[in-house]
Amino acid sequence: MTAHAKYPHIFSPLKVGHTTIRNRILMGSMHTGLEDLPDAAERLSAYFVERAKGGVGMIITGGITPHPTGGKGAKLSEPSEVPLHRQVTDAVHAASPEVKICMQILHSGALAATPDCVAPSPIKSRIGAYTPRELDEAGIEEQIAAFANCAALAQQAGYDGVEIIGSAGYLISTFLVQKTNLRTDQWGGSWENRMRFPVEVVRRVRAAVGPNFILVFRISAMDMLQDGLAWDEVVSLAKALEAEGVDVISTHFCWHESFVPTIATMVPRAAFAGVTGRLKRELSIPLITSNRINMPDVAETVLARGDADIVSMARPMLADPELVNKARDGRDDEINTCIGCNQACLDHTFTGQLTSCLVNARACRETELNFPPVTTPKRIAVVGAGPAGLAFSTLAARRGHRVTLFDAAAEIGGQFNLAKRIPGKEEFTETLRYFAREIDVTGVELKLTTRVDAAALQAAGFDEVIVATGIEPRTPVVDGIDHPKVVSYIDVITGKAKLGRKVAIMGAGGIGFDVAELITHEGKSAALDIDVFAREWGIDFKNHPRGGVTGVEPVVAHNDREVTLLQRKTSAVGRGLGRTTGWTHRITLQRRGVQMVAGVDYRRIDDAGLHATVNGEPVLFAVDNVVICAGQEPARGLYDDLAAAGLSAHLIGGALEAGELDAKRAIKQASELAAAI
Ligand code: FAD
Ligand code: NAP
Ligand code: SF4
Repeated sequence: MTAHAKYPHIFSPLKVGHTTIRNRILMGSMHTGLEDLPDAAERLSAYFVERAKGGVGMIITGGITPHPTGGKGAKLSEPSEVPLHRQVTDAVHAASPEVKICMQILHSGALAATPDCVAPSPIKSRIGAYTPRELDEAGIEEQIAAFANCAALAQQAGYDGVEIIGSAGYLISTFLVQKTNLRTDQWGGSWENRMRFPVEVVRRVRAAVGPNFILVFRISAMDMLQDGLAWDEVVSLAKALEAEGVDVISTHFCWHESFVPTIATMVPRAAFAGVTGRLKRELSIPLITSNRINMPDVAETVLARGDADIVSMARPMLADPELVNKARDGRDDEINTCIGCNQACLDHTFTGQLTSCLVNARACRETELNFPPVTTPKRIAVVGAGPAGLAFSTLAARRGHRVTLFDAAAEIGGQFNLAKRIPGKEEFTETLRYFAREIDVTGVELKLTTRVDAAALQAAGFDEVIVATGIEPRTPVVDGIDHPKVVSYIDVITGKAKLGRKVAIMGAGGIGFDVAELITHEGKSAALDIDVFAREWGIDFKNHPRGGVTGVEPVVAHNDREVTLLQRKTSAVGRGLGRTTGWTHRITLQRRGVQMVAGVDYRRIDDAGLHATVNGEPVLFAVDNVVICAGQEPARGLYDDLAAAGLSAHLIGGALEAGELDAKRAIKQASELAAAI
């Protein structure tokens, strides 16, 4: 079967405004931080060119501010700023004349990280840094003019169009929603007045750029705010924008301050596409859907169902720039799938770090992390087929090295085989599928169920040895740690240890939280069932109340196990979890009744349970089991043996440093070594 036969909808061209896009996959807008670097033009060009060559139909850039009040990031409001953008558009069009590249115009409004931020009313966002200044009539006119000016400059810079973001809690959306627009003039009050600002922006932008320029508008189809937009308001806004000359409506599904996860790995694939489908039935222009559509078969299903005309894949383009070409060539199993973890993309964005990708450390480092073919291949032994060993082996083999990869286990993956068993982390299996295929494609010689030692490696005479042997779980020094009621997280996750009804978890890091999730879980995983997901997060897809949310405390299914999650630190439990996902884990466990206790000093474990003090006060946790999730130590035995035998080796991943190790660091280290060796 040809790829076009497998994905007929993805690979059918689409008329968008005055032009045509080659296929239905759009690279969605992402702020990467590249925009703010001194060598932005060179690095953005390399980043976009790779995705353009990878086959996408259309690219939307990261948000560019039209006015100094709109944010601290990259701006386009002066003719002098055009040449930088021109370098990027020229590079993209030269590399792939068929691809369309549109610039996103983003005015962050109350979310702009500047004390000069502005909004329709002076209301500070829950997640904003500053209270915005209320725009007066002249200020509103100035902002509308700034959008039009920015679009005209984008056209001069060679973009094929612009996307105006009118969602997520940014300036335009705050005009629409009652709670952020308290105005009593023509820009507030009635729905007609509240939607006047976006309609006026679009009218003026279209007038500034003429008909031969793609105009995309991003709308909150479900803003996940209790007092957010009603469905009829969403429809009437979309129709008004269509009437003003918008070519494509892109649907978005939250404000940044909403208490509903919309892109995390626990969100089912394509969970929100049905909402786009409902809006599509009201309009005649094309619609874009998005959110957790990470593989071509999911995109094809959404398109075939008629839920959207175009599918936006943003993070999947970080994970694999070649995704579309691989789908076209029938190489789906070679796609490095975005697992929705946010660890190297959004968590980085929100902490001021350069964006990258956990599964593809090269993302946004296209000019500096490369894997050119080698002229003198080496024979390399890699010990450990966890994320570090897998990434190193496959990248080094791609360069032409002859790699043998050993693992004591019967399957590749290391700790990812534990991670994938946690409800909500089912996507981790995709990474293992990808590496298994990469091993075949690159010709890595894989030796499973093979525990290697220093003598064997020495005898084999490899040119280089890479030790990626991972970690050993830490065993805390506490009286009674060898009591039968004490179990390790590994035995719990693999099902070897059977737990009683009352459980204390010693250690509240990522693994402590995952274990709490696993042992309180009941029924289907929300990540695999849209109805369960909707119930757990109070979303009403059927009736679409204001914002799409019911407003009542959601019901989260759980078993009758009583779980207490403990840590020694006095800081809030779970504070160290991912910036953009930690809150979802904390809320889910709280809704399941998991107790979280900080400031614990462990004293003794005996038949009665776990004796401790909490903030100095003696407490007995009368539990049936204590699960140890107290962090990890590097597994360095092999490395030390090699050193003793006079053999030098490279250490990567947990074997190098277990503290704060995650797969992001393991894969990044491995990739950097593979590029250098
Ligand atoms: P490992 O994955 O530990 O792999 C080491 C491998 O070496 C093993 O397969 C082992 O069998 C093999 N080995 C050891 N000694 C020998 C020997 N002598 N001979 C042959 N083979 C040997 N990280 C994240 O970034 N995000 C998450 O959401 C996340 N969730 C997690 C959830 C759970 C439940 C767990 C347990 C971990 C999670 N992690 C997560 C952590 C992540 O899995 C680790 O950081 C990562 O696996 C470390 O990779 P590594 O290659 O260094 O080591
Ligand atoms: P971790 O995040 O470092 O947490 C270890 C926990 O154990 C902490 O709560 C720590 O807090 C406690 N602890 C440390 N030493 C202890 C001791 N001697 N006695 C008792 N308690 C002790 O490690 P982890 O949970 O094992 O996770 C391993 C890695 O996997 C982490 O680095 C994490 O990034 C990654 N991971 C990530 C995710 C994710 O969703 N992003 C999920 C799972 C794992 P106190 O010292 O305050 O008690
Ligand atoms: Fe996807 Fe995680 Fe990579 Fe972000 S870091 S693009 S969520 S795999």
